[in-house]
Amino acid sequence: MTDRAPARLAATRADPDAAPAHAPPLFAKDAHGGLLLGGEPATALASRIGTPLYAVDARMVRERVTHVRKLLPDGVRLHYAIKANPMPDLLHLLAPLVDGFDIASAGELQLALDAGHRGADLGFAGPGKRDDELREAIGAGAVVNVESPGELARLAAIAQDSGRRALAALRINPDFELRQSGMRMGGGAQVFGIDAEQVPEVLAAWPSGLDFAGFHIYAGSQNLNGDQVADALRRSHALCARLASSAPAAPQVFNLGGGLGIPYFAGEQRIDTAPIASAIASIAAAHRHAFPDTALVLEMGRYLVGEAGVFLTRVLDRKRSRGREFLVCDGGMHQHLAASGNFGQVIRRDYPVWLARDLRAEPNTAFTVCGPLCTPLDVLAREALLPDDVQPGDVLAIGQSGAYGASASPAAFLSHPAAGQLLV
Ligand SMILES: *Cc1c(COP(=O)(O)O)cnc(C)c1O
Repeated sequence: MTDRAPARLAATRADPDAAPAHAPPLFAKDAHGGLLLGGEPATALASRIGTPLYAVDARMVRERVTHVRKLLPDGVRLHYAIKANPMPDLLHLLAPLVDGFDIASAGELQLALDAGHRGADLGFAGPGKRDDELREAIGAGAVVNVESPGELARLAAIAQDSGRRALAALRINPDFELRQSGMRMGGGAQVFGIDAEQVPEVLAAWPSGLDFAGFHIYAGSQNLNGDQVADALRRSHALCARLASSAPAAPQVFNLGGGLGIPYFAGEQRIDTAPIASAIASIAAAHRHAFPDTALVLEMGRYLVGEAGVFLTRVLDRKRSRGREFLVCDGGMHQHLAASGNFGQVIRRDYPVWLARDLRAEPNTAFTVCGPLCTPLDVLAREALLPDDVQPGDVLAIGQSGAYGASASPAAFLSHPAAGQLLV
């Protein structure tokens, strides 16, 4: 009995009680286990450029786009949603790899044009577009994804005023939800899009001066369930097909959205893309017969770039307070709001945190990782497991930080310098 006890204890520890781990990083490591970014040790990069620093690995972005392309039959188009990460160097990398950009402001329109996509390869969504933004979109020949009957009328008036035809698609608020999404943007009452049941009536009164471009559906973001994303794509296509019978002209495009998530927190797994591939294959096969002149578009942001980026921050201080170990860093919530849990999280959970000089060292000590701000909100991780020899001067890397990083953070808060951003 006593002989057996330790073995049983070990067995219990090995499985279910063990704290769930984060999905393993996809980055390369050097011979000492050090994190490599674009082939350079992250610690060297941090010294050369300075911290805090966002670094996005170009090779990993290319690999992820290649993976997504393999899921899509020939002719299905892939758009990148700029709001995930608008860094110009990243847009230049992505421009030739994708078929278009989704933009959500005149600022993003300019970034897209600068990176080399134009005209109908740009889809402009967003619930509140200013008149000057609509005018610029018309001038650029972008597809305006119209989100309300009022916006449709405003677009028609601006088009008439400027003496140019505008390309308008209707963004539909579907009569279904993308379940278990981190952010739901369709189904029920929404600020986004026109309720599906109102769409036939809007189509019946289509304003002259607007060219009908098609439909756009975006049901939600950050979903890790491949079956659910596949199901939403099937339902989105069926809804577009049904509404097309009321359209004033043959649709040029059905934009079916995306919603593929990445694993941010312990216990989350990478999304299984096999059900998505098979759903798109069957959608595309039926689509070719019924709508030979209508392009199919999928759009995604974080799935293309989120896992390829890290946030590098240097430890300024290590201290102990009433039994808890703290690391105080030079980067914080003002540069990485999402890691602090204040960007749409309901229950605060930790992003993965790695010791950049050695990803293989045993993570045996729990640290609370804080930024430099004078506010208790500035916590980058509450219970980061790291090796116990972390010291001031060490560089920490926060993973899954390639999307919704710098551009989604309140950089002016407390007047610290902005984080650097680099494609490597
Ligand atoms: C935010 C957004 C996206 C990108 O979402 P990800 O979760 O980053 O893929 C795509 N389309 C629309 C309309 C969006 O608002």
